Amino acid sequence: MSRKGIIAIISGFSGAGKGTVVSQLVQRYDYAVSISATTRLPREGETEGVSYFFKTKEAFEEMIQRDELIEYAQYVDHYYGTPKDYVFRQLDQGRDVLLEIEMQGALKVKEKMPEASLIFITPPSVAELHRRLKKRGTETEEVIQKRIARAKEECSYMEKYDYIVVNDGLEECVRTIHDLLQSIHFTKRNQETLIRDIQADFDQFQ
Ligand code: 5GP
Repeated sequence: MSRKGIIAIISGFSGAGKGTVVSQLVQRYDYAVSISATTRLPREGETEGVSYFFKTKEAFEEMIQRDELIEYAQYVDHYYGTPKDYVFRQLDQGRDVLLEIEMQGALKVKEKMPEASLIFITPPSVAELHRRLKKRGTETEEVIQKRIARAKEECSYMEKYDYIVVNDGLEECVRTIHDLLQSIHFTKRNQETLIRDIQADFDQFQ
């Protein structure tokens, strides 16, 4: 029986470690991960078409005009958005798709696609969040402060998520999220075809 792909959105404060968690999920299991478009500049080691599709503001605004994005949002002075094409193609092929996006975008996707599961990753404390952002060393203290201010705002929306997972260790966090994602296949929404098949089977049974 063919299994439908599920769509899951992974969000978390900047520095919560969600990028690492998502890349581990993709390396270890068969998840498709959506590649976003952004107007921010590449960080060292980031590659076009792998990390992001890096766009000028004008090119990004054209994508909005052409309705090519499932959602987009502004985050700390830049646009970020999810191209429709790849996500819908993967879901149609039965693959589970992960979107690693911030909160405004996550809530927009949930509005359009109520079947999407929203997973929020948080570090164990704010002090730990600050420590991780500093350790990453890719942002200035000013940007770190902006990201912490943004995290404080985002904190009030955590309740809108379906699942909250603490990232207090990579291994455990990756395993927890994988188990969680697999269990979503067994929700009644994702078993509608099976339910109908079994009911039809009973109708045929003499
Ligand atoms: P970063 O600049 O650290 O790569 O990403 C900043 C924030 O933008 C992160 O919270 C990340 O999850 C979010 N983000 C990345 N891609 C998208 C996207 O396509 N849409 C939205 N709404 N947020 C995104």
